[in-house]
Amino acid sequence: MQLTDLTVRNFRNITSLDIELPEAGVVIIGANGQGKTNLLEAIYYLVLFRSFRGAKDRELVQFGAPGFFVGGSANTRVTAGYEVAGGRKKVTVDREPVRRLGAAVGRIVAVPFSPEDRGIVAGGPAGRRRYIDVLLSLSEPRYLVALSAMRVALKQRNAALRMGHGDTAQAFDTPFAEAAAIVLSTRMTWVERRTGRFRAICEALGEPEPAQLRYRRHGTKAEEEATDLRMLLASTIDRDLRRGTTTVGPHRDDLQLSLGDHSLQTYGSAGQQRTAAIALRLIEAETLAEATGQLPIGLYDDVFVELDDARQANLLTLIRDTLPGQAIVAAPRDSEVPPELFERPRWTMRGGKLET
Ligand code: ATP
Ligand code: MG
Repeated sequence: MQLTDLTVRNFRNITSLDIELPEAGVVIIGANGQGKTNLLEAIYYLVLFRSFRGAKDRELVQFGAPGFFVGGSANTRVTAGYEVAGGRKKVTVDREPVRRLGAAVGRIVAVPFSPEDRGIVAGGPAGRRRYIDVLLSLSEPRYLVALSAMRVALKQRNAALRMGHGDTAQAFDTPFAEAAAIVLSTRMTWVERRTGRFRAICEALGEPEPAQLRYRRHGTKAEEEATDLRMLLASTIDRDLRRGTTTVGPHRDDLQLSLGDHSLQTYGSAGQQRTAAIALRLIEAETLAEATGQLPIGLYDDVFVELDDARQANLLTLIRDTLPGQAIVAAPRDSEVPPELFERPRWTMRGGKLET
């Protein structure tokens, strides 16, 4: 997959940008705070219609502007606009307005590598759930449908629980359990299929200890092993009523990442956590490539940060072998981007403007 052109208006510090992108991609060099990450964020907005930094839409709007616009073409033309006044976003695919965002998600496929990815490994379960939810939503259409249905049912069930209405809450058990079963099995199947690859990539990056990726269901042993979610919900209703929330289900689960016998979240060093985060991004790229039959665009933000020389060199080889498609690479220093991999034009970003 290849982004051929990009238009940006009033997106963070980028007032106006119209560029054509080279087939192999580009290296963007710029000092701190010039807009490199903003540019990658704008591109990724066309994938998910959300910020990869978790920012709200209105935070993406340039200070003082009424809204922002991003458009780009990669086989299909995708545009997204947001206006502060109505608080609405408008998305088009091949010039047709899209009513359901879910239908437009993933028309452009990219994988964002960011220094903040270490937070996926080092932070709490919510970040790891978000990681797997995004990648499965982009690779399996029915996953996004099930995930949305699960969230709607969960919200209603929790609202009833908070008001102490057990019967009303239980009316949502079936829709919740049906959607949750799809979410759970899709996640578990994916983890099972990728854990070997996760270990192999960590090893190739220079990690001597065997890395593991496991799916961890939340709850007691019996709850973890329950196959019938409806029965599980029925058995935990008293606890749910006491706590005013649904205490079992995929919305509480976690991806467990470890080196040897030790949790990476708790015991990993910065470089080890980064290594694991990069491995997660690379298996995301592989998953998307298999699902869509196209290589995702690699968006690399400061990708070498925290890695020692050996791991940097290994990463270069890995990127070349597993993600040889279009690469948009941002770095604060020219010297940080080894020319042997990224033989691409070098542009400079200054004050939200690209000098090509
Ligand atoms: P670094 O090398 O430090 O990561 P960067 O080039 O990636 O720098 P960005 O994060 O892309 O920097 O841009 C940060 C700049 O964008 C800051 O100066 C910030 O003030 C500005 N900025 C962020 N949000 C907005 C907004 N909504 N409107 C205008 N400017 C914004
Ligand atoms: Mg940045």
